[in-house]
Amino acid sequence: MPYFVRILLLSFVFCSTTLLFLPTKVLASSSSSFSSKIRVKIGQNLKDVTVGGTDIKRYLYGTKDLRQYPGRNSIKFHCNDGKDGSNGKARRLAQIYSPTGVLSWEGKRYRGELLLISNASSGCDLINIVPLESYISTLLSTEMNGTWPIEALKAQAIAARSYAIYKIQNDSTSKEKGSESYYDIESSEKHQVSGSFFDATPFTDEAAKKTKGMVLLTKEGSELVPIFYHAKCGGRTIAPDQVWSNSVTGYQSVACPHCNSSGQKQWTKTISISQFKNFVNWLARSGHISKSVDVSKIKEGGLYLPTDDLMKSKVGIYQADNLLVINKSLFRRYFSKTFFPSNRWKLTITEKELSFIGEGLGHGVGMCQIGALDMAKSGKNVTEILNFYFPGHKIARVY
Ligand SMILES: [Zn+2]
Repeated sequence: MPYFVRILLLSFVFCSTTLLFLPTKVLASSSSSFSSKIRVKIGQNLKDVTVGGTDIKRYLYGTKDLRQYPGRNSIKFHCNDGKDGSNGKARRLAQIYSPTGVLSWEGKRYRGELLLISNASSGCDLINIVPLESYISTLLSTEMNGTWPIEALKAQAIAARSYAIYKIQNDSTSKEKGSESYYDIESSEKHQVSGSFFDATPFTDEAAKKTKGMVLLTKEGSELVPIFYHAKCGGRTIAPDQVWSNSVTGYQSVACPHCNSSGQKQWTKTISISQFKNFVNWLARSGHISKSVDVSKIKEGGLYLPTDDLMKSKVGIYQADNLLVINKSLFRRYFSKTFFPSNRWKLTITEKELSFIGEGLGHGVGMCQIGALDMAKSGKNVTEILNFYFPGHKIARVY
């Protein structure tokens, strides 16, 4: 079936005095061949930025000044807290390039170019413009483990590439305050954590190369949607709308027998009634439960929980005759990801506290990485792994 995916191509053209930055949207079919790039925000709110490299070329957008620094050199940029008359809009300050294809910043090396932008409020952001397959290769070491079996790495590469291309196509990531979009994705837990030059290994390079251009699309409609993954589901993956407020096409909750032999079996946590009271206050303030809930009536010995089990995505707690129904993922959002390792847990309530016994690590949506490792070790290939965790999706090559 023919399908078309819009890809953002970034071209860099050097001429005698200027460096042109030409973002162009093109249609790419499965038969076209080109290398795509991704713009990754690797640093934010920076005061000073020092970039090193060999024969560096640096272009200043303000003065249109292009300069070359021969030999091994470094350039320092000062960021002026956005007090530069740019009316609160992010704008490009400088672009840095080396003919070696590698630049260094803060002790790490990066393939591709670096773009420095004023983020208008607090200093500069640094963007790495990198070939997509290089981005995927380094990411396999940071988001998974570069020493894992190749079929698990390939599954991770396809999942991460799907998410990255989704972000490239929906270029709303940095489109704020009326400014142009200067990056596609953040290297952070919020999006995906990518690595630097030395995170790539022959194994991660091979996994990226062998899956080049491959993504997951929905079986119905061939849509590119955000593809998620997590460390360990603990027995069952969950759907996006059980964790976040919106549903995502194609996802199904899947029973996973593959991750129980590795990693921590269970986790336990306890919170006091007064901590729970603060949590309910936050729920009411942020509109997750009715504001008419009388939080002052929550007290020791006053809470009753009919039943709960690991499979439920919501928990119902009685305070006198009032039933509070709370989405389990909100506990993790409020008390932090480190306090609540996963969204899969069972609650019990005593007079003075609430106790949680949980399984898994991470939000629980999409591919279970420990499960993918187990499947790869037992001889399953990338297609079998992805078909298992994404039964509503199919693998497709988009470039
Ligand atoms: Zn699992």
